[in-house]
Amino acid sequence: MRFTLVPEYKFDSFNEATAEFLLSIGVRGVLLDIDNTLEPYEHPTPGEHVIAWLDSLRAVGIKTAIVSNNNKARLDRFNKDIGMPGIAKAGKPFARSLRRAMRDIETVKENTIFIGDQILTDVWAAHNAGIRAILVPPINDRRDPLTRFKRVLERPIQRKYDRIHREEKQ
Ligand SMILES: [Mg+2]
Repeated sequence: MRFTLVPEYKFDSFNEATAEFLLSIGVRGVLLDIDNTLEPYEHPTPGEHVIAWLDSLRAVGIKTAIVSNNNKARLDRFNKDIGMPGIAKAGKPFARSLRRAMRDIETVKENTIFIGDQILTDVWAAHNAGIRAILVPPINDRRDPLTRFKRVLERPIQRKYDRIHREEKQ
């Protein structure tokens, strides 16, 4: 795989990546960002739509793990009732925590995918680990200067994805 920050897939929400779709592209394990991917920062626990989607993956044997750059308190509270493998302070975009999560859920890079909202954190980490990435738009985008700057840096990569997939459709 040639290195690129362009995600393999873009969806409007994490749960558009259905169990059926994931199986159809050979996925057996899904690594998940929390913040602004599954829930916004200010939601401490997963909503029913998150739990329903996780259950639908589990029902077909797809395993899931959380790989979050947020702290352990955030992860533990979010994960309390769903109890999946999770890594806090994951150090994305470095790949180490993703490799550890794959060991935890016993998948390999060929059958694992990452779902996240940030190109320069999540997609980059996924590709550093040699796995595919699904990019979703941030649920509640923050307007602080650093986040805005990162969104500016993401723009050409978003455009490249759109260009590639427009050509595919023609
Ligand atoms: Mg995020």
